[in-house]
Amino acid sequence: MSEANGTCERCGKKVKQEVWLVLDQRSWTYTDRDVPDEFSQGAFLFGPDCAQFELAEDRREWAKWEAKQ
Ligand SMILES: [Zn+2]
Repeated sequence: MSEANGTCERCGKKVKQEVWLVLDQRSWTYTDRDVPDEFSQGAFLFGPDCAQFELAEDRREWAKWEAKQ
């Protein structure tokens, strides 16, 4: 009885298993980190596969951001 009502931010397909990631404006990546409100661009919906892709990118970009601090 469960119907997907959202679409994936990355691929645009209907999401059955919802993963919400926050867009962190420091690294401009979608993350599952706790992002302080002042750096958050809000939560976006992804499917599990696309979420994995985004998180891998986040880990790379976040490491670069941290290295600059
Ligand atoms: Zn997707």
